[in-house]
Amino acid sequence: MTNYFRSNVDAMASYVPGEQPQRGTQIIKLNSNENPYPPSPAALAVLRNIDGEWLRRYPEPFGGEFRQAASKVLGVPSDWIIVGNGSDELLSVIIRACAEPGKKVVYPMPTYVLYRTLTEMQAAEILEIPYSEDYSLPLEELVAANGAVTFIASPNSPSGHVVTTDDLRKLASQLSGVLVIDEAYIDFTEENNALTLVKEYENVIVIRTLSKGYSLAGLRLGFGVANPKLLQGLFKVKDSYNIDAIACAIGTAAITDQTYKNACIAKIKASRIKLAKDLKQLGFHIWDSQTNFLLAQPKEGNAEYLYQKLKERGILIRYFKQPGLDDKLRITVGTDEQNQALVEALICLLEIGD
Ligand SMILES: *Cc1c(COP(=O)(O)O)cnc(C)c1O
Repeated sequence: MTNYFRSNVDAMASYVPGEQPQRGTQIIKLNSNENPYPPSPAALAVLRNIDGEWLRRYPEPFGGEFRQAASKVLGVPSDWIIVGNGSDELLSVIIRACAEPGKKVVYPMPTYVLYRTLTEMQAAEILEIPYSEDYSLPLEELVAANGAVTFIASPNSPSGHVVTTDDLRKLASQLSGVLVIDEAYIDFTEENNALTLVKEYENVIVIRTLSKGYSLAGLRLGFGVANPKLLQGLFKVKDSYNIDAIACAIGTAAITDQTYKNACIAKIKASRIKLAKDLKQLGFHIWDSQTNFLLAQPKEGNAEYLYQKLKERGILIRYFKQPGLDDKLRITVGTDEQNQALVEALICLLEIGD
């Protein structure tokens, strides 16, 4: 069976998301960086009041209602905002609009695996530049590569570190291609300034999502902020009705309810500190994280074993079988109860204690 597909599609590997167990199964799910708390009550109220008429008609093609709400929250004009079917769709739109065979897509490694998948689909050239041990940005190499598209996830996954605005500014000012700053985890950081770069440089787009901070991964809603000159090309490439009417309405309520989101984030940050401390006590090396997950390296070099054994006990975490990561685990910060169950399971597996 061959020849149905373009050669690059034939050759590429599929993106492998974290396991998504069937609804209703009793599992502690700490593998996809979902928020452990429910979405905003205001968002759920909108869901309960969905009118069939909204479904009969096509939705507004640009997610206008959500753009207005996001504009107010972010303090940027609404025509500087593009809305996507998850931020993943926007990453795909950017690649399709800006990359092609013979052009380079560049990013530091390790990072979000989807950047590679999307680039392979487009048959563009991939240039992966390794982060140094301490996760400082390989700035000179990234500038020298001068990609048609450069991706920087900040905070990064799976390392959890933030790239400084200074470094991002240096990149933005020296690259002639598009700089994509993927801020999927921005809600969990202490400070953020990358939005200011959008105002300074027209080749910069900041991508955000409602999946993590707003507990809406199932809804599929993300957005990008960039100069309208850049957005204009991206609008040509997106699906005509990429934002469904329900996602738009629920997302609008969710982003408007900053008080609820901030309360959930505060709980997760407190749990992150506690979980990091507990794991360190079990001998794990833990990297500083400005996200809702921790990168953890077990002392005994048995990361894959622990991943498997936890899975058998109904606790899912993430294990990446790739160079530089295959001795580490990525653990989403859950509720204190979930984190405690994880720590107790690890104590058993590591045979620590009495
Ligand atoms: C989760 C994640 C995304 C995807 O977000 P969606 O809006 O759910 O598509 C994008 N980038 C990074 C780095 C992520 O971790």
